[in-house]
Amino acid sequence: MVEKWKECTRCGLHETRRNVVLGRGSMPADILIIGEAPGKVEDLQGQPIVGPSGRLLDYIMETAAEQAEVEVPSCYITNTCACRPTDSLGGPNTQPTDAQIWACFERLMDEAKKIKPIRVILVGKIAQKNCSQAFKGAHHMHHPAFLLRSGGPKSPYFAKTVRDLSVVFKEVASVKEEGSKKEGNEKEGNEKKARRKRRRSASI
Ligand code: SF4
Repeated sequence: MVEKWKECTRCGLHETRRNVVLGRGSMPADILIIGEAPGKVEDLQGQPIVGPSGRLLDYIMETAAEQAEVEVPSCYITNTCACRPTDSLGGPNTQPTDAQIWACFERLMDEAKKIKPIRVILVGKIAQKNCSQAFKGAHHMHHPAFLLRSGGPKSPYFAKTVRDLSVVFKEVASVKEEGSKKEGNEKEGNEKKARRKRRRSASI
């Protein structure tokens, strides 16, 4: 159970956190988004990628879906580290260390198993460095906090980020379409088999 991690004391970050920040969103979901680690706001709210970064991420996803002419896929958002990295209680945000990320890896995999995503998006350098091996073929994207710092929707990286994400959304839509076609064919096949069986029994 993912909930068991709410009491985790596996690494030193449990001493300075206010909340264990597990993921938010649909479970299962079409897309699993993995960011870095909670900041001050996330630690207080117990939710990953919220506030201005979260709003920008929503905007990026809506714009990408519009470009791809598909619905926004269902998403689950989480982080490589579930507790806020900092040196002291109330101290500034720091980057998670390799040891902290490693300690939290089982929690991340626990969440990923529940999500069963069609595509994984690694957001920011920390997630890309630490999760590319485990999530082979994952899409890499700039962290919304970085995009915000470089101008938000006016950032020189914004248009490409949206364009690349729209390709991922199209892929997800086509995988889902294939899946429903297959399901439809299987259902039709089973119905035909059942009809043949009924006819055979009637003719005996
Ligand atoms: S960061 Fe992860 S491993 Fe460390 S205490 Fe929090 S939940 Fe546990």
